[in-house]
Amino acid sequence: MNITEIRIKLMSDPNDRLQAFCSITFDYCFVIRDLKIIQGTKGPFVAMPSRKLTDRCPKCEMKNHLRAAYCNGCGTSLDSDRALDEDDGRAKLYADIAHPINSDCREMIQDQVVAAFEEEMVRAKEPGYTCRYDDYGEENYARLKETESNPDILPMSAHQPDEDSAQRRVDGAHEEKQDPHAGEQRRPQQEIFYDNEGDSFGAGVL
Ligand SMILES: [Zn+2]
Repeated sequence: MNITEIRIKLMSDPNDRLQAFCSITFDYCFVIRDLKIIQGTKGPFVAMPSRKLTDRCPKCEMKNHLRAAYCNGCGTSLDSDRALDEDDGRAKLYADIAHPINSDCREMIQDQVVAAFEEEMVRAKEPGYTCRYDDYGEENYARLKETESNPDILPMSAHQPDEDSAQRRVDGAHEEKQDPHAGEQRRPQQEIFYDNEGDSFGAGVL
């Protein structure tokens, strides 16, 4: 199995530990997105795509991140220290979605991705550079609803009867406006899984 394509999206702030997102294609036919290139103390390393682990609120069954101190659904206070500890004593808050299962594969991915990342940084300085990573705008800020004209849709009104909320959604569809900044790339505070730093990526799963 070979990597046949690597696409990289460089972050705008070179001082950020998160240097880039990337996708890799295996044998021209299978793509994995959302790998991260993170600046570690021993140079850049690759972190596999991962998801936040969640559990359910015992009162309203809403899923919450394991470090959430309050339920996102009903506001109940939760024990923010409830995540299970891994063997090394650190809380397990994320799980890899895709990852290598041996060190040969891990090194093959790491070496090629880091090489492609370094080439991308050179290319990014050339005129006419375009990023080829498929970006779904997940790092853009959401457009705010205009709450002044709709005082009944403030977050505190989360527990209204279903009929009301359905009606609001229908109403909202008519109010949708074109945002002049819709295409603007702005990056919110990152929540990145840095736990693998110091070794190489995937170390926690082998
Ligand atoms: Zn709840």
